[in-house]
Amino acid sequence: MTHCGRTNANWRHRCCIGLAFALACAGASAATTAETYPRAQAAINALHLGVAIEHGLDPLTPAIPALFGTHGTMAWQRLLGGVEHALGNYDLADAHWLRAQRLALSHGDLEAAAEILNLRGEQAAVSDYARTERIANELSQLAERANLPDARIDAEYFRGIVDRRHGRLDSAEQHTQRSLDAAIARGNERNVARAQSLLGLIARDRGDYATAFDTEMRTLAIRERTGVDLAGTLRNLALICLDLGDENLTRKYFMRAIDTAAAHGDSLYYSSALGTYSSWLADMGRNQDAYTAAEEALLLARALGNKPAIAFDLFDSGRALTGLKRLDEARQRLLEALALGQELNQHEIIARSQLALAENAYAEGNIAQSRRLLDDISADATAMQFKPMLVAVYALADKLAVAQGNLAQALDDAHKRSALRDELLNTRSSRALALLESQYEKAEAEHKLAQMTRDNEQQAALLAQRQSQRSQAIALIAMLCTVIGLLAWRFWSVRGLNRQLAVRNAEVESQRTALSHANTRLQQQADELFQAAISDPLTGVANRGHLLRQLAVRIAGHAQTGHELAALLIDFDHFKQINDRHGHQFGDRVLIAGANALREHLRANDIVGRYGGEEFIVAAGVRDEAEARQLAERLRAGVAAALAGLLPDEPDATTISIGIALLSRLPAPVRLEDVIEAADKAVYAAKDAGRNRVVVHAAR
Ligand code: GH3
Ligand code: MG
Ligand code: MG
Repeated sequence: MTHCGRTNANWRHRCCIGLAFALACAGASAATTAETYPRAQAAINALHLGVAIEHGLDPLTPAIPALFGTHGTMAWQRLLGGVEHALGNYDLADAHWLRAQRLALSHGDLEAAAEILNLRGEQAAVSDYARTERIANELSQLAERANLPDARIDAEYFRGIVDRRHGRLDSAEQHTQRSLDAAIARGNERNVARAQSLLGLIARDRGDYATAFDTEMRTLAIRERTGVDLAGTLRNLALICLDLGDENLTRKYFMRAIDTAAAHGDSLYYSSALGTYSSWLADMGRNQDAYTAAEEALLLARALGNKPAIAFDLFDSGRALTGLKRLDEARQRLLEALALGQELNQHEIIARSQLALAENAYAEGNIAQSRRLLDDISADATAMQFKPMLVAVYALADKLAVAQGNLAQALDDAHKRSALRDELLNTRSSRALALLESQYEKAEAEHKLAQMTRDNEQQAALLAQRQSQRSQAIALIAMLCTVIGLLAWRFWSVRGLNRQLAVRNAEVESQRTALSHANTRLQQQADELFQAAISDPLTGVANRGHLLRQLAVRIAGHAQTGHELAALLIDFDHFKQINDRHGHQFGDRVLIAGANALREHLRANDIVGRYGGEEFIVAAGVRDEAEARQLAERLRAGVAAALAGLLPDEPDATTISIGIALLSRLPAPVRLEDVIEAADKAVYAAKDAGRNRVVVHAAR
C-alpha cells in the first residue's frame, strides 16, 4: 500500500463526500426536521439518495465486468463504496468495498485489497468494533503474506481502536504506538496523525490530560496542514480542555470543530462534535442549549446509523433533560443509552448512562435506586478506568451517603474523591493548561518566527536580486547614455565638421568658379594671343608665318591626293603712288578694305594671308585652270568694287594684279618656294602686261 495510493483514496473519499453532500442538500425536502435541524435532514436525504443511486445502478452492474474487466469492476465497486460512504450508507459502502476487495484478491492485487480493507476499517472503527477487529485480523494476515508495511500499520491502528473501546487501554496503547512508529518510519503523515490522535484519546481516558493535550496538539499541527479529519482533532482537544476545566478553550475548540465539520460537509464529525458540545453544555448547567444540541446530534447519528454516537447522544440528551427536571423523559433516553452501550459492550457508555441514571434517581429522591446504580459502576473494573467520570461517581456517592445518614461511607467516598481529584488536579489546573498553551503558543511563535526568518531571507535574496538587477539596469542605462552621449558628441562634431566642410566646399566652389572664369579668360587671352600670333594686325588675315605653314600643309595634301591646288599671289597696283598721294593711313585703309573684299569672295576652305607689304596669297582647291581664273577674276572684281568707293574720283587707281601658280603644273615634289616663285613670276607677267589682270604661270 503506497502513500500515493492512500492520497488518491483520500482524494476520492473527499470527492465523494463533496458530491454526496451537494446532492443531499439540494434534495432536502421541506419538513419539520429540515426546518429545525437542516443538517440532520440533509444527512437523511443523503441516505435516501444513496439508496436511490443503488437502485438506479442495479441494472448496470452485470454489464460492468464485460465492459471493463476485473480491474475496471474493482475500481467501479470501490467508487460506489466511496459514494455510499460519503452519503452515510455505511452498510452499502462496506458491501461495495467488500466486492472490490474480493475482486482485488482474485486478481492477486493484494496491495489494492489491503487499501480497500483500510477504507472498510476506518469506516467500521466509528461504530462497529467487531467488524473493525475482523478487518484488523485480515489486514494483519495480508501484511504477513505479501509483506505490506502499510497494511501492518493499519492493522495495528485498528487493534488500538478496538482495544480502547473495550477498555484495554494498555494493549490499545501498545498497538497504536507500533502503528505510529511504523507510520513515522514510512513518512506517512496521515497515518502518523491518525495514530497520534488515538494515543491522545487513550491518555485522556487515563486522566493523563497533559499527554493527551500535547499529543492532540501535535496531531492538530499535521491536520491543520492536510485538512484530513481536522474536525475530529478539534473535537478531541475540546474534550481534553473540558476535562482540564478550561471553559474558554473548551468553547473555542468546540466552536472550531463544529465550524470545520460544517464547512467540510462532514456529517459524522459534525454530529460527534455537536454531541460532545452538548455534554459540556450540560456540565455548565446550560441544559436547554445542551438538550437542543444533543437532539440534533441524535437525529444525525440515527440518520447515519452510528450506534455508539446514538448512545452518547441519548445519554447527553438524558442528562440535559434531568437538568431541566424532565425526569421521566430523561430516564427513557438514559435507559435507551444503557441498552445500546450493553449491546455494543462499551463500558464507558454503560458506566456514564448508569451514572446519569443514578443522578436522575437522586433528583427524583430515589436514593436506593441511585445507590444500586453506583454500586454497579463500581463493580465494573473496566469502567473504573475512566477517571473523569469517577470524580462524578464519588461526588454522587458522597451525596448519597450523606442523604442516607451513612457518614462513614460518606467519609470514605469523600476520601476517594479527594484522592482522585488530587491526582487529576495536577493536570486539571488552569495553570498547567496555561503553561501548555503558552508552550504551544511559543512553539507556534517560533515556527512563525522561523517562517518569517525564511520569508525575510527570501525577501532579502529577492531584494538583493532586484538590487543587482537594478544596478545592472543602471549600469546598462549609464552605458547607453555614454554611448548616446558619444554618438551625440560625434554627431555634433561631425555636424561641425560638415559645416566647415560645407564652408570650405563653398569656398572651393567659388574658387573653382573663379578659376573657371580665369581659365575662360585665359583661354580667351590664349585664343586672342594665338589669333594675334597667326594674324596680320592690320588686315586681320593670316600673317606671313601662318600663311606659309597653311600653304605648306595644303601643298602636302595635294601631294597625297593629287587634287588641284591654285596659289594666287595678289599685288596691289601702283600702291606707292596711293601712299604718296593720299597718305600712308589711307593706304592702310585701302589694304584693310581690299583684304576684307578678298575674304568675302573666298570659300570656307580657301586660305588667305598677307605675304608682305601690299602682297597677299590665296590658296584654293580648284578643278582646273579655268576655275582658278574664275576665282582670280572674281577676287579682282570684288576688290575693285570695294576700293572704288574709297576713291570715287580715280576709279582705276586701286586695282590688283594676280599671278596664279597651279601645282599640277609644277615639277614634283612641289616645294613652297617653287610655288611662290611661280606665282611671283606670273604677277610680274601681269604687271608687264599692263596690270589689273590675272596671269597664270605658264607650264614648264
Ligand atoms: P607696281 O605697280 O609696279 O607694283 O608699283 P608700286 O608702287 O605698287 O610698287 P613698289 O614696289 O614700287 O611700291 C610699293 C609700295 O607700297 C612701297 C611702300 O611704301 C608701300 N607700302 C608697303 N607696305 C605698306 C603699308 O603697310 N602701308 C602703306 N600705306 N604703304 C605700304
Ligand atoms: Mg609689290
Ligand atoms: Mg605694287
